[in-house]
Amino acid sequence: MKPFNHAVTNFKESIFSTMTKLAITHEAINLSQGFPDFEGPKWIIDLAKNAMDQGHLNGNVGKNQYAPSFGILPLREAIANNYKRFYGVEFNPLNEIVVTNGATEAIFCTCMALLNPGDEVVVFEPFYDSYLASLQMVGAVIKPVTLIAPDFSFDKNELFSAIGPKTKMLILNNPHNPTGKIFSLAEIKLIAELARKFDFLILSDEVYEFLTFDESHIPTASFEDLAVRTITISSTGKTFGLTGWKIGWAAGPADIIKAIHNVHQFTTFCVAHPLQVAMAEALNKMDEYLVDFKKQYRNKRDLLVTGLKAAGFNVLNPAGTYFAMAILKEGENDIEFCQKLILEKKVAVIPTSAFYMKSNAGSSMIRFCFAKTDETLKAALKNLN
Ligand code: GLN
Repeated sequence: MKPFNHAVTNFKESIFSTMTKLAITHEAINLSQGFPDFEGPKWIIDLAKNAMDQGHLNGNVGKNQYAPSFGILPLREAIANNYKRFYGVEFNPLNEIVVTNGATEAIFCTCMALLNPGDEVVVFEPFYDSYLASLQMVGAVIKPVTLIAPDFSFDKNELFSAIGPKTKMLILNNPHNPTGKIFSLAEIKLIAELARKFDFLILSDEVYEFLTFDESHIPTASFEDLAVRTITISSTGKTFGLTGWKIGWAAGPADIIKAIHNVHQFTTFCVAHPLQVAMAEALNKMDEYLVDFKKQYRNKRDLLVTGLKAAGFNVLNPAGTYFAMAILKEGENDIEFCQKLILEKKVAVIPTSAFYMKSNAGSSMIRFCFAKTDETLKAALKNLN
């Protein structure tokens, strides 16, 4: 048989699938893959059920049939309204937003639409695993820049040497998975300066935009001059605790969004119609929801971080996301440590070496997810003591 696509054949199973499977096999408490182990808001689930029940009733366009390929207009309007309300950023819902199957599809479509083989892309490591896969599928050259613990800042000189005339794009994930870092204004301003100087695009993955604990999120597109070169990607998975719905989007200048939609149109065409109907309403009513949401996650972060400290872990307090990193002791290895934790303590977490391609710093860190009920977190902490 002739060889399959070279980039794809070498892909390994995602570390999130591996660890969740191991957690199930060994009946361990799963603090590995990032998803809540509790139900999302019932009022939003009811909105989706209603949309499904409505179907073609009363002359409706069938809510159980294909949605428009760009996403239903009320959802694009709700997304645009929120960018304006929360951040003062303007996107035209008619041609500057495309709805995708989660942020993951938006990331892939963006890479496919904008990059040619050989284009250089700067990525901060540790990184969300789909960046690498998407970049490899399009044949881009990846230039990693390492975020250094404990504050996960980067060495400016390392960034300068990763950027050059061939740099086409930089991927910024803010708030950042897995470190919980929020990039400082000075860091983003430096990236902005380089983006202008070397004329590159910024893919800004902001899926944890509402999971910030002490400061409000600042979208990259809101920085002076950056809107013209930024593709803002987000999704409702984390914000509403409905990761399985996979409603995401890319927003940016019309010509860029048109190109991203060209890819989306021929990969999935559209996103689950009734779920879009529900999300359009939910996004218009999220203010009250967000107050409790943030409080709930801040409490979970404090519960986990305090508990891990008491159990002797060198845990770093995250400023955002629902993840916390811990640094292992000298000589310990992340993969061995995680295996031991599952077998001996019945707790599954993520070995972070999977998120690096240049530095070996990941082999001395592990990631805990606190998007879990307080009972789950307490049970895990009990096992870890
Ligand atoms: N982003 C989630 C995490 O970091 C997992 C997403 C996935 O499983 N693909 O755990």
